[in-house]
Amino acid sequence: MPVLDTFGRPLRTLRISVTDRCNLRCHYCMPQDAYAWLPREDLLGFDEMVTLADIGASLGLARVRLTGGEPLLRPQLPHLIVQLASRPWLTDLAMTTNGVLLAEAAADLRAAGLQRVTVSLDTLRGDRFARLARLDALPRVLAGIRAARRAGFTALKIDTVVSRGDNDDEILDLLAFARDENAEIRFIEYMDVGGAIGWRPDAVVSRAEILETVTAHYGPVTPLGDPDSSAPAERFQLPDGQVFGIIASTTQPFCSSCDRARLTADGVLLLCLYARHGLDLRRPLRAGASTATLRKMIDAVWQGRADRGAEERLRVDDRGVYIPITALKRDAHLEMHTRGG
Ligand code: SAM
Ligand code: SF4
Ligand code: SF4
Repeated sequence: MPVLDTFGRPLRTLRISVTDRCNLRCHYCMPQDAYAWLPREDLLGFDEMVTLADIGASLGLARVRLTGGEPLLRPQLPHLIVQLASRPWLTDLAMTTNGVLLAEAAADLRAAGLQRVTVSLDTLRGDRFARLARLDALPRVLAGIRAARRAGFTALKIDTVVSRGDNDDEILDLLAFARDENAEIRFIEYMDVGGAIGWRPDAVVSRAEILETVTAHYGPVTPLGDPDSSAPAERFQLPDGQVFGIIASTTQPFCSSCDRARLTADGVLLLCLYARHGLDLRRPLRAGASTATLRKMIDAVWQGRADRGAEERLRVDDRGVYIPITALKRDAHLEMHTRGG
């Protein structure tokens, strides 16, 4: 029987952060000048990740997304993919990447068994990219997207965080780019998660505003049902047939159908993007805890899960930064780049 939480939500998806390191410094995720990284010896090995995923599978887990930090900075990542792809319980194996290293990696990732790739891309302007992500790497990301297609990743997705005054004037350009690349773009509302210390309510470009911009140009869009009701994106079709998505995590959160757990690179299981604490699985795993014991631990925390972080944030009047910088400096697990987006 799959485990259900207090709201009847199953544990179906695991996002594994394979590293907390990143080669970009996106303004909404890693705006600080210096970061303390997780100790190397604490990072889970691939076998440990697979062991934990297998235990999750005995509780209903069927989908895995690799993330980070930047997952392509993790050496030998295809070795992990080969192991995961061989699991009989796995129905979906995906990765979210900033794309900087994708051109070199795409063919190996595909050969290893990765099924789907999502590339994060917030702007098509090189100077803006360099300013918002603090690396002049737009051409490399574009080359990565093309290499991914050549390698056979046909269901490519592009994720764009829209923030006011930064890239909200590029919604139509990015939509056109996605059409040309035959990729499905999803516009994500700016969230006050983890390291987003510059977050403020008026920087959020809402689902409603995004739809207004798109319909003003293209005419009415048709909402599409999604066969996967727990998917965060709401999908729409333009009159010309192009499909795009909106992830309204801030103004219309979708916690009621959230089946996602996150595993940090050092083995902490988090039940919500907004969770302040998690379950450390690395210590018991390395201390020799049996599969049955680890399974019991995961089963118990998921059964007790009452997290609805984004919905609770919605009820906060006078909403500002969620995690103050002092707390982020004390505990790297609160950072988005540690918990995995
Ligand atoms: N480094 C990889 C990347 O950027 O694709 C994977 C990890 S990143 C944390 C995963 C996703 O989280 C990215 O699409 C990123 O845009 C998104 N993200 C990070 N901070 C965010 C924020 N404050 N609001 C909304 N999305 C955010
Ligand atoms: Fe940007 Fe992803 Fe790196 Fe965060 S982890 S700084 S979103 S590339
Ligand atoms: Fe799931 Fe938490 Fe995000 Fe809500 S805020 S959708 S419970 S991860």
